[in-house]
Amino acid sequence: MKYLKISNLLLLLAVSFFLFNCTKSNKTKNEKESNTYVIKNVNVIPMTEDNNVIGNATVLIHNNKIESINDSIPPEATIIDGKDKWLIPGLIDMHVHTLSNGSFSQGHATRGSTVNFNTQNLMTPYIANGVTTVFELSGRLGHFSQRDKIMDKSVIGPRMAIAAVIDGEGNEIKATTPIEGRQSVRNAKGLGYRFIKVYTWLNEETFKAVIDEAEKQNMKVVGHIPTAFDGKPAENLFVPHFGLIAHAEELSKQTNDFSYEKAQEFARLAKENNTWLIPNLSNMVWISKQAKSSESIQNLQSLKYVHPLMQSKWLNSNRFYGASPKLIEFYDKQKDFHKQIVKAFKEEGVPMLAGTDAGISGIVWGFSLHDELELLVEAGLTPEEALTSATRLPAEWLEIGDKIGTVEVGKFADLILLDKNPLEKIGNTRSVSGIFVDGKWLNKNVINSMLQKVEQWNNANKEKYQWKNRKNL
Ligand SMILES: [Zn+2]
Repeated sequence: MKYLKISNLLLLLAVSFFLFNCTKSNKTKNEKESNTYVIKNVNVIPMTEDNNVIGNATVLIHNNKIESINDSIPPEATIIDGKDKWLIPGLIDMHVHTLSNGSFSQGHATRGSTVNFNTQNLMTPYIANGVTTVFELSGRLGHFSQRDKIMDKSVIGPRMAIAAVIDGEGNEIKATTPIEGRQSVRNAKGLGYRFIKVYTWLNEETFKAVIDEAEKQNMKVVGHIPTAFDGKPAENLFVPHFGLIAHAEELSKQTNDFSYEKAQEFARLAKENNTWLIPNLSNMVWISKQAKSSESIQNLQSLKYVHPLMQSKWLNSNRFYGASPKLIEFYDKQKDFHKQIVKAFKEEGVPMLAGTDAGISGIVWGFSLHDELELLVEAGLTPEEALTSATRLPAEWLEIGDKIGTVEVGKFADLILLDKNPLEKIGNTRSVSGIFVDGKWLNKNVINSMLQKVEQWNNANKEKYQWKNRKNL
């Protein structure tokens, strides 16, 4: 192997790929019978642009794809009763931070991670809530291995898009000059990242160089507006090819003027630059809640599904506790301004995408997306617009709009069956009757027992995973 030339190596790879595909297609043939489902008499909310609800429909799912709507039913199909229920596309959370393996202390050369998370336990809360796609905004190598486990079906989890974080400080990929910035983008591409996240501490020149290089490398850019832009005119913030703002907070921290006119100015500039927005209203809502009272976390219903290490951190080492009254007042002003931003962006026609910052204290993976949808409606979106922000539009931004995001023939069957109509009341997205994910039908009982497993494991391991003892893990 020592003298094997690159061209030979490529040939080997091509041959093994060919063999792999042969075995794969044989397998598909044999599995066909057990891979066919029909949801009968269901109300389909397709979330296409015209979104005409199809009443009393028959949806055929075959080999993980939507094969037909209102066509014949093959005899081998497993029938699911959809009467008086509602079928929507699986939800997309465009701003998550999923835990991944790592170390809090330095081990020896072959030690590896000291904290190893059970991937299924991390993914269950997403799936239980119908979140079938996530955008990971602090990508690490651990997320690639999580995605592999989902792809090889050893774990049931969402589709994962992963962004590499480039920043001017800290532990992420660090770049302090335009040359470093450009090289960082190319390195990230080489490692397999498809998206770049720009972060708070980049200087202005490096920020611009990273975004320009990402465009050259055909990588889309999401992220923060660096503090280097503080006090500069609003038009400077919108750099060409900066495609998606990660929080409304990125805008509120740039100004003391929390008027609707200011929100409109941001919206106009975003529109001109084709920059979309993740409002991420949840973030400031939760910061403000925790700043006011520690009970907000203690009483959080979904806390039991959070890994015990994070439960311990959120409860005992919470950086938002004990804020001054002045700071709390400021958080609340920001929170209100974020609603104005949503109104102004809607008025201007700038696409908005639902994202929750799941992983930040109080914001629980999966569960948080339903909260965010409610907040978006409170801020002025219709339930349909809120749903669009978590289905068709994010799929479009991720450039997988031909695969997911709507209920249409030919698309992947990422689907949620709901007991109640979410177009009437957005909170009805919580009325999950069952989920289709990766060709599997998970009914409510299956989902509940999956959640129960996570809860039991978390409860049994509370002592072991105390945040104060993390260095000794
Ligand atoms: Zn975030």
